[in-house]
Amino acid sequence: MESNTLFQYSVVSALMDGVASNGLPLQTLSQHGNHGLGTFRRMAGEMIIIDGQIYSMKADGSVTLISSTEQTETVTPYAMVTRFSPTITKKVKLGGKDELKDFLTNLIPRTSNNYLAFRVDGVFKSVTVRAAGPQKEKGEGLVAVCARQTVFELEPEEGGGIGGTIIGFRSPAFLQGVSVAGDHLHFITDDRKRGGHMLGFETEGEVEVQVAGMWRVELELPKDDEEFENAKLVGDNEGIKAVEG
Ligand SMILES: [Zn+2]
Repeated sequence: MESNTLFQYSVVSALMDGVASNGLPLQTLSQHGNHGLGTFRRMAGEMIIIDGQIYSMKADGSVTLISSTEQTETVTPYAMVTRFSPTITKKVKLGGKDELKDFLTNLIPRTSNNYLAFRVDGVFKSVTVRAAGPQKEKGEGLVAVCARQTVFELEPEEGGGIGGTIIGFRSPAFLQGVSVAGDHLHFITDDRKRGGHMLGFETEGEVEVQVAGMWRVELELPKDDEEFENAKLVGDNEGIKAVEG
C-alpha cells in the first residue's frame, strides 16, 4: 500500500454498539501499514502500532508485544493504520492535547476536512493514559466498557521525565461515527512497558512532531458478521466524544 493512505477496519459506531466478537486478523492489518491504533476482540485493551510492531496495552497495566505468530489468530474489531511517511517534522514544547491540536493545524494547512497521521517523540513531564476492556458480556457497548477503564498517571523514570511516543490520527468532523472525529492519541514508553489511550500530557522540553496529510482512505467493513449485520449504527456523537476524544 502506498504511503499515507489510511486503512481502516470497521467503524467506531460499531464499537459503540458493542460489535467486537470478530474482526480482522492482525497479520492482515499489518500489511496495510506500520503506524496505527485500535482495539482487540471484546475490546480487550488498547492497540498501538509503532514502527510495524503491534502492542496490546491492557487495563491491568500490562503492555505486550503481539508476535508475528500470534498475529494470525489475534483479531481487531476496529483499527486504523497507515504506512506513515511524514511530510513535515518540527520540534516544539507542548503543554497538552489542545496545544498539539493547534500546532498540527498550523503546521499542515488546508486539511480541516481531511485525515492526518502524526507522531510525537521525546521526553514528557507528565502522561495520563487509560486502558479499557474487555467487554463483560457479548454486545456490551463502548461507553459501558469505558466506564470501567483504568487511568494511569505514568511515573517519571529515574533521571526524570517519561520517554515515549504518541501515535495519532486526526479524523474530520463529518466522519464522526466512521472514525473518531478530532485527534485520537495512543502512547507507549520507550521501554515498551507502559502506555494506553492518551488522556493528557505535558512535554519536558521540545519534542519532535511529525505529520502527514492523508487524502486516500480504504475502509473495510465486517463481512458475514451477525453482530455487525444487526447493529443499528445510529451514531452517538456525545458518547464517542466522551470515551474517545
Ligand atoms: Zn483510543
